[in-house]
Amino acid sequence: MNENAELAKIDLYDLTREEMVGLLAGWGYSAYHAKRLWQGLYREGARSLDEIEGLRPDLLEQLHRETTAAALPVGLATKSGDGFTEKFLLGLPDSEEIETVLMLFKGRATACVSTQAGCAMGCVFCATGQMGFRRHLTAGEIVGQVLHVMRLQEERDKALRNVVFMGMGEPLHNYEATMKALEILTDDHGLAMAPKHMTISTVGIVPGIRRMADEGRPYKLAVSLHGATDEERQALVPPAKRWSLDVLMDACRYYSEKSGRRIFFEWTLIAGENDTAEQAHALGRLLQGMEAHVNLIPLNPTHGYGGRPADAERVKAFQGVLSEYDLPSTVRQRRGIDIAAGCGQLRATTL
Ligand code: SF4
Repeated sequence: MNENAELAKIDLYDLTREEMVGLLAGWGYSAYHAKRLWQGLYREGARSLDEIEGLRPDLLEQLHRETTAAALPVGLATKSGDGFTEKFLLGLPDSEEIETVLMLFKGRATACVSTQAGCAMGCVFCATGQMGFRRHLTAGEIVGQVLHVMRLQEERDKALRNVVFMGMGEPLHNYEATMKALEILTDDHGLAMAPKHMTISTVGIVPGIRRMADEGRPYKLAVSLHGATDEERQALVPPAKRWSLDVLMDACRYYSEKSGRRIFFEWTLIAGENDTAEQAHALGRLLQGMEAHVNLIPLNPTHGYGGRPADAERVKAFQGVLSEYDLPSTVRQRRGIDIAAGCGQLRATTL
């Protein structure tokens, strides 16, 4: 089988359950067979088609000929010194590479997945943004990252319940594949991951936020703000030139009202840039009265940006100002910095 023929095969992990039923129906097999296949892949965690029991031999043969259900190959796996963070460089069929991170917290594990190879958004402090956009991932490639981490956890007798879409890429710039991956991950007849444990992180793609609200998507939303005035935001996050803060906040309020969910706002704290009392007050005014939670993340270093993280005193002072506005906030633990697996540090390292 040559490489092009392999690439032309249908990736079974790229199909929703409904699409799998449709594919097999087109081949003349009833929904019963599609159910067996779906459950084999997701409920029983089969690692190859041959492991799935109860598939008719003729169906199995056609599946082998026309589809693939291969795991994403691991190019490199690194573990942080404290053992709480692991990063995986995963290969895609066309030789692109992406990074996926497993973060262990007390009593829970979270997978941080990529939605694109590279990113078109160009946030100045982000290593993925510095490498530019290469391509969108398919839903199957997003699901494949979760399966990789889940299988690893299973081998250790541990579970994986949380997924954050905060790896390489802007999820709402790859809306269709991201939502499809979420449908597959949360399907009750398969992995059945809880929608409330799925977090989509966006730099503020307004049409995507509004679309999520209109479609009643039940996931957690995290919006990266980094600046509470248009001027400050535009200096750090280029998409802010397209959607002003007024427009973005309207979309956030719309999402919050429609979904009944509180929104998480991410703020990378950069010394002397956006860690000032002035920015903290502006943020407090911006979010006052909203169902919101602010996550403060001291900047993680990248080669392409010279900024420094805010020091502990400035972080505390910033948080103090937010509490004056009754705004709950958390300072995110910095993790995996020694293996460049922290927020904004992902960059397929062998590129
Ligand atoms: S922070 Fe997110 S949106 Fe911005 S460049 Fe990095 S990956 Fe893209």
